[in-house]
Amino acid sequence: MQEIKIFCPATIANLSCGFDVMGVALDTIGDEMTVRKIAERKVEITKITGQDLPKEINKNVAGVAASAFLKKAKYCGGFEIEIHKKIKPGSGIGSSAASSAGVVWAMNELLNRPFSKKELVEFAMQGERLASNVAHADNVAPVIFGGFVLVRSYAPLDIVQLPTPKALYAVILHPQIEIKTADSRKILKSRIALEEGVKQWGNLGGLVAGLFKEDYELIGRSLEDHIIEPTRSILIPGFEEVKKKSLDAGALGCGISGSGPSIFALCQGIEMAQNVAGAMQKVYDKIGIDFEVHVSKLNAKGAKKLK
Ligand code: ADP
Repeated sequence: MQEIKIFCPATIANLSCGFDVMGVALDTIGDEMTVRKIAERKVEITKITGQDLPKEINKNVAGVAASAFLKKAKYCGGFEIEIHKKIKPGSGIGSSAASSAGVVWAMNELLNRPFSKKELVEFAMQGERLASNVAHADNVAPVIFGGFVLVRSYAPLDIVQLPTPKALYAVILHPQIEIKTADSRKILKSRIALEEGVKQWGNLGGLVAGLFKEDYELIGRSLEDHIIEPTRSILIPGFEEVKKKSLDAGALGCGISGSGPSIFALCQGIEMAQNVAGAMQKVYDKIGIDFEVHVSKLNAKGAKKLK
C-alpha cells in the first residue's frame, strides 16, 4: 500500500470524573487525512484544508507525531501528509488529537503495523505536548484504540480499553468561541481536598463499572466532577443552564468536553439524544453566541480507513 485515506474521530476527554485519564471516540464527527509513502526519509505536510494551520513540521501536531514515529521506524523512506480539518482547533473535542493520533495510525497501516497501539499513543502524545504543553493521552488513546479508554498510568504508560455499551450516544454543543487547552489548564488548582478526591474516585470507579455492566443509570450517576468543572465552567457561557436542561430532557449525564468550550451529554438511545440536542439548542438560541450541536453514536473502533 502506497497511500491511505483515513477518518480520524473527534473525542470527548475527561468525561467529568476522569480528568486526564478517560476518553471516548465519536463516530460521525472527525477529520480526514491522506498519508502517502515517499522515497526520501522525511515528513512533509503538503496540504491542509478546512483550517488555517501551519505546514511546518515542528509547528503542526501531525508533523511532530509523525517525526516521532519515523525516528523509531525501521523504514528508509518518508511520508507526505494531507490534512482535511473538520474539527475546529480549540473546540474541546480533540482537534489536535485527531491529527496527531490519526497520522501515526495511518503510517503504521502503510508499514504493515510494526508498532503496537500503545507505542502509537506514545508518538501521538508528542503532538499533544505541542498543542497544550502537556503530553496527555486521553484524546489520542481513544482515536487509536476506539471506544472508551482509561489511561491507568502515565509512567509507565498503561492503557486499558473499556467496553462501549451499544445504546450510548453523545450530544455535543460547541459554542463558537475558542478555549486553548493550554489556557484552560492554567486556571486549575494543583492541589485538591481529600473529600473531593473521595467523590471523584468513587465516580470514576462507578463509570468503569457501569460500562462493563451496561448499567446506563450507573454511568449517568457517575458523570460528576467536583474538582475541575466548578473552575472551568466559568469560561463557558450558559454552562449551568445547558447542563440542567439536558438532564431535565433525560440525559444520563452532562459535563465539559475536554477543556471546553464544548459541552457533552451521554444519552441512552438516539431519541433521548435528539431531545437533549433540542434542549441544548434552546438555551443557546437565547444566549446569542454562534454554536453547533452534534449527535453522534460512539465509535468502538477508532481511526479507520476510508475507501
Ligand atoms: P483541541 O482540544 O480542540 O485539540 P487544543 O487547544 O488542544 O484544542 O489544540 C489546538 C492547538 O494546536 C491550536 O493552537 C492549534 O493551532 C494547534 N495545532 C497544531 N497543529 C494542529 C492540527 N493539525 N490540528 C489541530 N490543531 C493543531
